[in-house]
Amino acid sequence: MTKKYLLKFGGRALGKPVLADCVLKTKARINILKADAEGNMLVKIPKSSEEKVLRFLRDEGVDVTEQKNVVEYDRERCIDCGLCTSLCPTGAFSLDAESTLVYNEDKCVLCGLCIDACPRRALSKPKF
Ligand code: SF4
Ligand code: SF4
Repeated sequence: MTKKYLLKFGGRALGKPVLADCVLKTKARINILKADAEGNMLVKIPKSSEEKVLRFLRDEGVDVTEQKNVVEYDRERCIDCGLCTSLCPTGAFSLDAESTLVYNEDKCVLCGLCIDACPRRALSKPKF
């Protein structure tokens, strides 16, 4: 599966043609999905060239994080009420033996059902 990565161009990565150099060096077909004025860019990197692209970008000072298409969960806000567990169609949320909420983000398909239902606003869509 092709993964998505959030690239943050700041510090020494600013003002340089880092992405162009990366494509030239790695010959990877990087797909830009989104970009904003703050220097953030969401890209898809083909699996076959993922390792060398990530190494190149990090060496050039780009902050790289994998962007998972899953709901964001704020543990600090959560009161373990369990409402999201009854709504989630994939079982991404469950309560453990101590009635503490457990989040398995690998199961989330970002359907959004839990986001509006949470009484504590502990759940949100990815920001980028
Ligand atoms: S609905 Fe919100 S407060 Fe309740 S368990 Fe889920 S995340 Fe926590
Ligand atoms: S967004 Fe949908 S799939 Fe993901 S945790 Fe919430 S209800 Fe489950």
